[in-house]
Amino acid sequence: MKKIKILFALLAVVALLACSLNVFLGVFAEDHAQIIVSSVEAERSSEVTVSVSLANNPGICAMVLSINYDSDLELVDAKDAGLLNGPTLGNNYKTNPYTATWEDSAAASDNSQNGIILNLKFKVKDTAGVGLHPVSVSYSTDPSDMEIYNLALDFVSFDCVSGGVTVVCNAHVPAAAVQENVLPATCGATGSYDEVVYCSVCGAEISRTPKTIDATGNHTPGEPVNENVVPATCGQNGSHDEVVYCTVCNTEISRATKTDLATGNHTPGEPVNENVVPATCGQNGSHDEVVYCTVCNTEISRARVSLARMYSLRWQNRYLKPYRCCCCK
Ligand SMILES: [Zn+2]
Ligand SMILES: [Zn+2]
Ligand SMILES: [Zn+2]
Repeated sequence: MKKIKILFALLAVVALLACSLNVFLGVFAEDHAQIIVSSVEAERSSEVTVSVSLANNPGICAMVLSINYDSDLELVDAKDAGLLNGPTLGNNYKTNPYTATWEDSAAASDNSQNGIILNLKFKVKDTAGVGLHPVSVSYSTDPSDMEIYNLALDFVSFDCVSGGVTVVCNAHVPAAAVQENVLPATCGATGSYDEVVYCSVCGAEISRTPKTIDATGNHTPGEPVNENVVPATCGQNGSHDEVVYCTVCNTEISRATKTDLATGNHTPGEPVNENVVPATCGQNGSHDEVVYCTVCNTEISRARVSLARMYSLRWQNRYLKPYRCCCCK
């Protein structure tokens, strides 16, 4: 029983290994027929050749390929590499897709060679950005279109592997300098900015130079404002500072102290009594009638007013006669 269990375990391991091996082969064994477009690097504005080649060719006698290329590439030449017989390459390189045809009408056997079948020369446009600009091939997979077939007139299927031109920038091309981190100058203070040059091809920063902007020096005076105001009164001059500030940098441009003349006209209030001495039966009284200014409290006038002494009247012998009152006795 134990032996059977071990056997099953071993079988499971073998099955797992076989499975992994299949995956392994699936990734690395490109045994299916392929049409491969090469991948190349090039500088902008340069000319570069991209090849189209066959791998795992099972044997064909005719092939029609459409070549699609990125709009940043310009096809300038197409040359048959001599691997397939009966090439027909169009002269109009402006067409995209460009069509290449091979048809070996006199073939006695299928051509199963592998290698380059076509060399395409592209000019990388002046405006092309860095990165991949794809080139791909395609054909009709409808067997009745007869785009790839063998001597037996059977459709032959290929996988198409795209390639293209990767634009690189080994020699930067400086674009016009631009300003960054701009701090504008004011009337009183200098400004600054960075003068930056980028590569017009890849956008890399080539240089960065700090620059200074001179102060403009010309203040823009605003409306005068009053400060330190001491208001004038009826009796006393006032004053204030007339100050002009720059509307841009707020610097004080000028300050002038101005006098505000006293108004001179007091505003008399109600008279009030002061220094009051009350009149008694035996003695005259008095008080000061004083008028103050209601604004500045200055004494405007003072008048002494007398008050006649008081008498107390009593009946005496049928006559009403003044007598000293009880309180003044
Ligand atoms: Zn560059
Ligand atoms: Zn200013
Ligand atoms: Zn007053």
